[in-house]
Amino acid sequence: MSLSSLSIAELQTRFRNGDCSPVEALEHLEARIQSVDPQVQGYISRNFETAKQEAASADVSLPLGGVPVAIKDVINVKGEPCSCASKMLTGYVSPYDATVIQRLRAAGAIPFGRTNLDEFAMGSSCENSAFQKTRNPWDLNRAPGGSSGGSAAVVAADLAFASLGSDTGGSIRQPAALCGCVGLKPTYGRVSRFGLVAFASSLDQIGPFSKTVRDSALVLNAIAGLDLRDSTSLDTPVPDYTALLGRDIRGLKIGVPKEYFVDGTHPAVSAAVQDALRLFETLGAEIVEISLPHTEHAVGVYYILATAEASANLARFDGVRYGYRAQATGLLEQYQKSRAEGFGPEVKRRIILGTYVLSSGYYDAYYLRAQKVRTLIRQDFVQAYQKVDMILCPTSPEPAFPLGGYSDDPLKMYLADIFTIAANLAGICGISVPCGFATVDGAKLPIGLQLMGKPFDEARLLQAAHAYEQATPWHQSRPPLPA
Ligand code: GLN
Repeated sequence: MSLSSLSIAELQTRFRNGDCSPVEALEHLEARIQSVDPQVQGYISRNFETAKQEAASADVSLPLGGVPVAIKDVINVKGEPCSCASKMLTGYVSPYDATVIQRLRAAGAIPFGRTNLDEFAMGSSCENSAFQKTRNPWDLNRAPGGSSGGSAAVVAADLAFASLGSDTGGSIRQPAALCGCVGLKPTYGRVSRFGLVAFASSLDQIGPFSKTVRDSALVLNAIAGLDLRDSTSLDTPVPDYTALLGRDIRGLKIGVPKEYFVDGTHPAVSAAVQDALRLFETLGAEIVEISLPHTEHAVGVYYILATAEASANLARFDGVRYGYRAQATGLLEQYQKSRAEGFGPEVKRRIILGTYVLSSGYYDAYYLRAQKVRTLIRQDFVQAYQKVDMILCPTSPEPAFPLGGYSDDPLKMYLADIFTIAANLAGICGISVPCGFATVDGAKLPIGLQLMGKPFDEARLLQAAHAYEQATPWHQSRPPLPA
């Protein structure tokens, strides 16, 4: 097996046996990125110089000792650009490490490259990047999903051992499903958001992409926990997320929400998820039909609340404090031109929508009402979790769609998030794991299975996902790229 296709756990075994050094692993990755990333275009920037220096003195006995990790370009890494895939942050260099970066470093990991995304994490296809279109490694004419499309594509294409992304409305789980890797959105408050450029602060959460469920547990071990610099991070004990892996799941109650098995889902996705349900039964889980009655409102509520929060969060990009500054004669004109020239069309659409739903006269009709429906959506989950331990459904209604397929139709693009958004609104944790393939127009495309867990129940979520992964071959397949 080639070095770059190893999981973190396998790589660490090689480090610890002395079969390979962290510098060699980085050099191997660098060569593969040079030959394959021009096709995938997952990376916006890389910093192998610094990374190799860090690798030379890496302590491989640490939990992630010497493991290179790619970082979505929306998380601050000291001394490096943090572009958010926007012209708006041209020239900006982070003066500090985000808490997740500090924690990765403390665990011995080496952040070495920055991955592409939809501008300011707004999108479901990675096509809203101001710089490049990341391609799906399984079919280079298709989208990798978004917004963390780069983070998903580089892991799936063996251009990274693991990566970090952010998930506001599915941006970790949906691209993981479309690219065929594991993507974990932790519970809101589990991982510090300090140093993550804010999109919608009540929904944003950082989490890992990985090749295996165990690797996600290893990364979560490193990044989870209270951080006094993020007032929404919670002081809940951090267990060892690998502890339950391998334990059998007999007696686990899995809820299947009838509202999530809807017309319009691709038949191959429905079939793969039904197969997964049967497999869980043979592993000893009990399948229970449940109802999440407010599901149909999730997309509408999300696109009101996320845009409202975004319009406030993005007010700071004024041409004065960060990045891009337009030539202008007065201050007002400078604000206007900087924002007009710095932001791309989707970001502007969100700011306008968000400003509208917050404006006087519309606040009650849209923003306030959406907050109330958010509470109802959250209560659906509270009630469901009285009956079941976790919830199973597809991650995305369809496999990877062609690049440009939805670019002219924002509403259709928003529907790509139909199964992932509720977990953010409810604040719970969710994971996507590979669960099969669809053949579409001759292309073999991955399908993702989503499990959603109770708040702070990541350990059990990972246990169930791992049991499924170990009983299936899907995670072993590799996209048709050069070896
Ligand atoms: N696709 C969703 C959006 O465009 C989710 C994005 C995200 O989770 N960052 O808002």
